[in-house]
Amino acid sequence: MSRNPRYDILFEPVRIGPVTAPNRFYSTPHALGTGNQMPHTRAAMREVRAEGGWGVVNTGYCSIHPSCDDAPLPYCRLWDDEDIEVHALMVDAVHRHGALAGVELWHGGNGTANRLTRVTPMSVSGVTYSASDANYMSLSQSRPMDRQDIREFRSWYVDAARRARSAGFDIVYVYAGMGYGPFQFLLPSMNKRTDEYGGSLQNRVRLTREIIEDMKEAVGQTCAIAIRFSSDDLLKVPGETLQSEAHEIISMLADIPDLWDIKSSDWTVETASARFSEQGAQEPWNSFVRPLTSKPVVGVGRFTSPDEMVSQIKRGILDLIGAARPTIADPFLPRKIDEGREDEIRECIGCNICVSTYHAGVPVRCTQNPTMGEEWRRQWHPERIPPGDPEKSILIVGAGPAGLECARALGQRGFAVTVAEAREQLGGRVTIESKLPGLATWARVRDYRLGLIQSMGNLDIYPGSPVSAQDVIDFGCDHVVIATGARWTRQILDTNAYPAGEIEGDAVFTPDDILAGAEPEGPVVIYDFDHYYMGSCLAEMLRQRGKEVTIVTPATAVSAWTLMNNELADIRMRMRELGIDAVFEHYLTGFSDGAVQLAGIYRGSDVRSIDCGSLVIVGVRTRKDRLYEELNSDADRMADAGIISLRSIGDCRAPATIAHAVYSGHECARNMDAGDTIDTFAWERPRL
Ligand code: ADP
Ligand code: SF4
Repeated sequence: MSRNPRYDILFEPVRIGPVTAPNRFYSTPHALGTGNQMPHTRAAMREVRAEGGWGVVNTGYCSIHPSCDDAPLPYCRLWDDEDIEVHALMVDAVHRHGALAGVELWHGGNGTANRLTRVTPMSVSGVTYSASDANYMSLSQSRPMDRQDIREFRSWYVDAARRARSAGFDIVYVYAGMGYGPFQFLLPSMNKRTDEYGGSLQNRVRLTREIIEDMKEAVGQTCAIAIRFSSDDLLKVPGETLQSEAHEIISMLADIPDLWDIKSSDWTVETASARFSEQGAQEPWNSFVRPLTSKPVVGVGRFTSPDEMVSQIKRGILDLIGAARPTIADPFLPRKIDEGREDEIRECIGCNICVSTYHAGVPVRCTQNPTMGEEWRRQWHPERIPPGDPEKSILIVGAGPAGLECARALGQRGFAVTVAEAREQLGGRVTIESKLPGLATWARVRDYRLGLIQSMGNLDIYPGSPVSAQDVIDFGCDHVVIATGARWTRQILDTNAYPAGEIEGDAVFTPDDILAGAEPEGPVVIYDFDHYYMGSCLAEMLRQRGKEVTIVTPATAVSAWTLMNNELADIRMRMRELGIDAVFEHYLTGFSDGAVQLAGIYRGSDVRSIDCGSLVIVGVRTRKDRLYEELNSDADRMADAGIISLRSIGDCRAPATIAHAVYSGHECARNMDAGDTIDTFAWERPRL
């Protein structure tokens, strides 16, 4: 197949200072949860993007000096010459495929707590950054930088830029956004200086300008110097000559940097999930930049549609299509467009599991792309997979995300695959849950896999086919994979958070009941100790149906886990907009006489009750494992039927996120030849 000429514009080269990007696909700097500790994992994660056609591939945030230490979060560093080699590994990997490699040089100012290095944090005026944000509470403040500090600060950038050049980088960034170092000088609310670096906008811009100019002088002959700038805060500050200080800063610096990379300063806005933002949602923060500079402009927007990418360029908003999450979900997105295979793009669903895994301090994982983070240590390529034995037949029971991914990967490997699904509709929980408010994109998990499966000659799929143990025995196949999922229970917790049995009754519901169409009588109490999306999504859905809803949770916030995936603020605001009440820090101890009984989590204090017509319990799921257990308990019957192996995958193995289910299905398919091995383990050991 060949490329649709409509997309030719995406494949035009773009000049960036002294270097040229081969096309407009730009993998923007973003953390991958590897830091310098996992250089091979990091290099391989970036390499597949270059191989997949991204013309520029950047590192994540890269500290220039020990006074900028984000531990325990995994960040890169270029503190001395010994740090060059691990970066060169990634640069060489990216260059092998003809892409440019970029590095985002970063100093956090008071945005880092320096927990590891114990160097006193420093900042523009010693003010505290995001002190009320749990992510940043460090119980220590920063010291204001004096003139000597500023001179050294500038020299750290130059030293790091020289090291970046030695590592082979083509693009070197100054990170002047997201509340970090130089950006703190730009903000009037942070910059309280009375010297030549404070006061007027000219003075506040001075440090950023000096750093860019210093770096240009040091490495500008060979490397492009890019600036990453957050516009949203400064768009709110009226300018003297132009509409806002953001406009004025960009026009002051206009052509000094070789590239403008524009983003919003609030990470929860920049990476808002699909539940709360559309593709291209960053436009209000980047659409004003293009007329103010002759240099190329890049920005993100969870772009997965080539038509939207073309529109961004033709409307003069962006020159380069920036992407982080779309590169995670499909490192081969550009190549697929180039080869006229855009219907094979594994589109990001905007769930932000990737963000949560970075926050957890591990290599970034992805719901759509199970190979993410496994490219080096397991040698899992996002597109290629070793062939299997076409003579071997495999029966998969269940066509949820685990079963479908397992089938897709086994089919790609060439095995003879049959999938049986009890329901008429394929997709399991993603088909059901994508009906929840804001989760429509989640159906892509199903659609991407079905799209590929349906064209495979070695794969048969049978909806409307509930399978019993005897059916499996009678079917006659070499390997059996059980992917029958899980169901929600009515179990609650006692005041020690131990399981306290189930609550029964006609007015007690689970998410499965509501999603199957049950109409609980209002007012409704949702008791949520699952802490992810389900509780707040059901609250939203029931509120839309006119019910009065109160969420009760032992946590301190609705959907408390979503602090990890950047949805917490949006969920709070949505609940408030919809008039959904919440009672925090309470266990539910009973439901009787038209009321739920509650006890505070602090040693059972604050006992109270809330009147309600029905109760929805969003807590614990249990495996639908009857089929697996029946087969597993009768090895002779299996052997007589010629079945070599039996495996359970996904929620049937252990209930978890959709990302876990997809990963589990993929791992099963990769290891199909290796006896009954799944749950394998591989890791990158730090080098001594
Ligand atoms: P996972 O997330 O692990 O893929 P899901 O709950 O999304 O789990 O999908 C499990 C699928 O298995 C559902 O679509 C369900 O209808 C199907 N299923 C469950 N039991 C059987 C069975 N005995 N025969 C065929 N399909 C089944
Ligand atoms: Fe997109 Fe979700 Fe994958 Fe992140 S984890 S890249 S949001 S699909």
